[in-house]
Amino acid sequence: MSKNVFVCARVRPPLKDEDPNDTCVQINEADRTIAVRDRQGFATDKQYSFSAVFPQKASQRHIFESVGRTAVETAFEGHHSAIIAYGQTNSGKTYTLANKGSTDKEDGLLQRCVKELFETVNKNPGLYRVTMSYTQIYNEVLSDLLTGEAPTSKTVSLTIREDAEGNVFVPGLTTVDVCSAGDVTHYVDCGNKIRMVALTNMNAESSRSHVVVTLHLHRTNTASAAPEGRLLLVDLAGSERIKKSRVQGVRKQEAQCINASLACLGNVVHALAEGSPHVPYRDCKITRLLQDAFKRGRTNLVVTVGPSSSDFHETNSTLTFGMRAMKIKQLPMGRGSTDAPFEEGVDTSLCASTASAAEFSRLQSGNEEMAARLREEDDLIQHLGAALREADDEIRVLHREIAVSKAEAMDAAEAARNQLLLHQDVVKQLLRDRERDHTELEALKKHLQQLTAERDGLLEAIQLDQITKTTRSHTKTDGVSAAFVNKENAPPRPSPNQKKNSHPMASKAPLGPIVNLSLNSRNSPLQFIEL
Ligand code: ADP
Ligand code: MG
Repeated sequence: MSKNVFVCARVRPPLKDEDPNDTCVQINEADRTIAVRDRQGFATDKQYSFSAVFPQKASQRHIFESVGRTAVETAFEGHHSAIIAYGQTNSGKTYTLANKGSTDKEDGLLQRCVKELFETVNKNPGLYRVTMSYTQIYNEVLSDLLTGEAPTSKTVSLTIREDAEGNVFVPGLTTVDVCSAGDVTHYVDCGNKIRMVALTNMNAESSRSHVVVTLHLHRTNTASAAPEGRLLLVDLAGSERIKKSRVQGVRKQEAQCINASLACLGNVVHALAEGSPHVPYRDCKITRLLQDAFKRGRTNLVVTVGPSSSDFHETNSTLTFGMRAMKIKQLPMGRGSTDAPFEEGVDTSLCASTASAAEFSRLQSGNEEMAARLREEDDLIQHLGAALREADDEIRVLHREIAVSKAEAMDAAEAARNQLLLHQDVVKQLLRDRERDHTELEALKKHLQQLTAERDGLLEAIQLDQITKTTRSHTKTDGVSAAFVNKENAPPRPSPNQKKNSHPMASKAPLGPIVNLSLNSRNSPLQFIEL
């Protein structure tokens, strides 16, 4: 028998809505490793190694040969044997563990294991009796899936106890005889009908509960010393990032419960890996049910991951969980727990003492009472512990949310400040431009005034010159009497005021041909047009 915790990882193929090229996992079957990289493909790839790795193309048969067959053998050897599917919602746990395909090719581990189990049972007629039970843990309430009645919010949790040999058992749980693989699948189908399945944003059939199918292999040949073997098939509810699945209300509470119980499982695995003297099996129901398989049986952990880069974080945390389980050292297999709870133990030194039988029985009943009280207190502590952990988780989520909001607010403030500084610079530049334009405008105005004055002066001079020339030419050509040039008849000279304000041509005095002076532009030559 090899290590009693066998860990393998399976990567499911991309789903219809996933891009097959956008993958974050790379499998190396030869050295049984999986490398995970994010979208940027950083050089600091994380590498995880396992007892076995199954790529997307791995068949259901392949998984059975690697995991299922040994699990069945372990049960026939009289040990507790468990196959646990662990992974993010939608990563392929149920498909791996209990898929019922349209053809045998698609069948999951459950179908294949029971087929194998009954082949061996049928080869040994009269040697084995097989019974089964089917349980669900929903919101830390353990319920029976073979009663035919769906659990409700009022369902009271079944309790988990340990027998004298330290084996866990559930008093009052329905156990049915099964004689074939068909019987098992029939009961599983009945249980599935009442299993809690709800819609979430993550997976249209997301399982909101952990479910455990337990097959008990009883030896009918009493002469055999081999004890009862068990095969547990555990389909865990998927871990879930509450923000990503956007669940609310009851669904959020379910998700918190699922995450808390998976954290407990992580603590158990951690304690076993560290060789810690105390393993917190009692912290939640699922670890308590799996206690025997971990303690002295054989556990097969199948961690399932999706290939998509969008599942990068979940894939990392699932594979980290698997790697931690890989560190669990070989534990002693077989019956006889060394750490059975003291209530089951009887102090034999008392028997050997001189106390009377009555005294012994009084002390024993007192011992039993105290054990019962301790169990009650233990349940209460577990309950309080679960509530505390839940509150703790919530606080951690809130802290993370606050930190994210703070960072976002700081980023927004920084961006606004930068924007403001940018605007201030622009405004300053605009003011500077305006001032410069203003100065230029003033200079231009002055220049224009100068030019206007010059133009007026020039116009006046030209007009006078023109008048003089015209007068002279009239005198010459027409022999006009000198009277015309007589000062009294001469056109009046403009007064100093007129010079400035009125056009000299506006004078009513008769002039020679009227001359229109046109000034097109400051620099253009004056044009004289005779009308
Ligand atoms: P989970 O139980 O982890 O929430 P499921 O087992 O329901 O996830 O798988 C999610 C989807 O992926 C299902 O549609 C299932 O048929 C498909 N799927 C999972 N694993 C495989 C696989 N190895 N090959 C083909 N389809 C798979
Ligand atoms: Mg599932």
